[in-house]
Amino acid sequence: MEFKSGQKYLCLLAPSFVAEFEYPEIVYRLRALGFDKVMEITFGAKMTNLTYYSVIKDSIEKGEKKTWIASPCPTLVNYIKVKYPELIPNLVPVHSPLGCMGLICRKLYPGYKIVFVGPCVTKKIEAKELGTIDEVLTYKELVELFELKKIPQKIEDSKYCVSFDKFYNDYTKIYPISGGLSQTLNYKNLFKKNEILVMEGLNDLMKVFEGFKDGVYKKYKFLDVLNCKGGCINGPGMIADRSVNERRKRVLKYRDFAQRYEKDLGRSGKKMDAEGISFERKF
Ligand code: SF4
Repeated sequence: MEFKSGQKYLCLLAPSFVAEFEYPEIVYRLRALGFDKVMEITFGAKMTNLTYYSVIKDSIEKGEKKTWIASPCPTLVNYIKVKYPELIPNLVPVHSPLGCMGLICRKLYPGYKIVFVGPCVTKKIEAKELGTIDEVLTYKELVELFELKKIPQKIEDSKYCVSFDKFYNDYTKIYPISGGLSQTLNYKNLFKKNEILVMEGLNDLMKVFEGFKDGVYKKYKFLDVLNCKGGCINGPGMIADRSVNERRKRVLKYRDFAQRYEKDLGRSGKKMDAEGISFERKF
């Protein structure tokens, strides 16, 4: 990826970043690389959750009986489209956190080139479909850029020493770990805990998808499912030599740190920041 002079660049960083890089150094390094703004995807995850809640609540109020399938993982969505098209109506028709942030940033920062950096290769396909994200880099590709541009691990220059820009959200920082979506969904008025199935991996999920009858899978009302075992912290674009458990611990530690020390710095994304934007979509 080339940074052209006269062009402004906005980086959207996936919440799994902390499983791979040091915080806050990663934010400084991204600024040194050429990004004018650096944001997390976590506010997009908040908007995904709020929209899930209203779509599912509507469906329950209409008396519909179905098992909803979470839809933030483009690998799974594409798999269902090809292999189980009869389950497309079960996919929650709402944008992923990336999709939501793309819509928000395109509206609020016109003229910026929007680049998503994360652990996922399939997000490149999702970005093409969305049209609001200009480029997708995996962590592997980001590290190659850091090496090419000789960006050090630690940056002393004070002009880079500021943290993330606006649209901060703390509790959705656990989105990239297994069950992170349902844990942050505030589902109490929608389902019981034992009506949610958390699962990853195509081989296991295939059996689940085969087991649907008339749009319903057993007693479950919501499937919180992803392709990669353990969640996006185990995505194909990750490179750090850490176990999934270590990566999970790093995400939780960062969430706790952020809730304690960064919550009230005035950068929190509010619902009104996204006013007038619809986060529903069709599959
Ligand atoms: S689970 Fe894997 S394939 Fe799915 S969005 Fe996350 S990193 Fe991508």
